[in-house]
Amino acid sequence: MYQKNGDRYFVVDGHVHFWDGSPANQRNKYGEGFIGCFYDYHRNLSPEEYVWPREKFERYAEDDLMSDLFDRGHVDVAIFLPTYLTDFYVNGFNTTEQDGAVAERHPGKFIVNGSWDPRDGEDGLRALEALAKRWNLKGAKLYTAEWKGNSKGWKLSDPWSYRYLEKCQELGITNIHVHKGPTIWPLNRDAFDVADVDDAATMFPDLNFIVEHCGLPRLEDFCWIAAQEPNVYGGLAVVMPFIHSRPRYFAQVMGELLYWLGEDRLLFASDYALWHPKWLIERFVDFQLPQDMQEEYGALTPDMKSKILGLNAARLYGLEVPEGTAAAEEERLQPT
Ligand SMILES: [Zn+2]
Repeated sequence: MYQKNGDRYFVVDGHVHFWDGSPANQRNKYGEGFIGCFYDYHRNLSPEEYVWPREKFERYAEDDLMSDLFDRGHVDVAIFLPTYLTDFYVNGFNTTEQDGAVAERHPGKFIVNGSWDPRDGEDGLRALEALAKRWNLKGAKLYTAEWKGNSKGWKLSDPWSYRYLEKCQELGITNIHVHKGPTIWPLNRDAFDVADVDDAATMFPDLNFIVEHCGLPRLEDFCWIAAQEPNVYGGLAVVMPFIHSRPRYFAQVMGELLYWLGEDRLLFASDYALWHPKWLIERFVDFQLPQDMQEEYGALTPDMKSKILGLNAARLYGLEVPEGTAAAEEERLQPT
């Protein structure tokens, strides 16, 4: 657990990758462009000392992953979110099987999530069943802007999506992570629009919808949807790095999220290897909203940070939390 000023934080990184974006795996110019766009996000929003050379960013070693997350990075448990992109990459960008192989070599460190695509129809439903059984899935990552042949995306509210969400419910895949956020070349921003989460969340109240990247740049849409849907959560990947480059913007986004969703529905995430969890966690634990903003939004307490950094994700995934975290202490001290 990460410790600072006498507070202890159990850290769950809610969104990590082990990808292969190297030229050998690129199928076409889109594969080359996609990882190039990722690299620009990495380069522009990381502190200088954390910027990797492009070759390393395209394909990093398992040793880097393990030491960056767990040795240097303060992470206790990390959640793999696969991104297939098989139209762009020969073996996929990072599949469930590739993630699962790493997870099996390091027991207790990772949660392996699956994925599905409603355009795969009946065959895909059967494949999802097999995947769920093989990896004991509790969650899935969805990528609504993914290209498939002539199609440039799909919606959560499509009839076939509902067949898949019903299947998730049946299989106990209760955590639906859906990328609703920044576009990445050559994908379309509008295919990542957050609006379709609204109906899906209403129709499937037993599923948790973790909206990765909080709908950015449509933060307001996301907040107004989440305020109405108690099973909608905000995944903080891509929000977090602004703590370095745009601290006031970060404070404003966090203030809005805390106002509309509250401290129990936000999940820390690095999106490794886009950003390194070490500096994100250290900066976040030290972070406070500027004084003038606190008057409107209130302050960030160690208790809130503790929930956001790990306790909320632990609750969704049924992880055991060691004793003595900041929020657990606070609860212990409060008379019941
Ligand atoms: Zn990601």
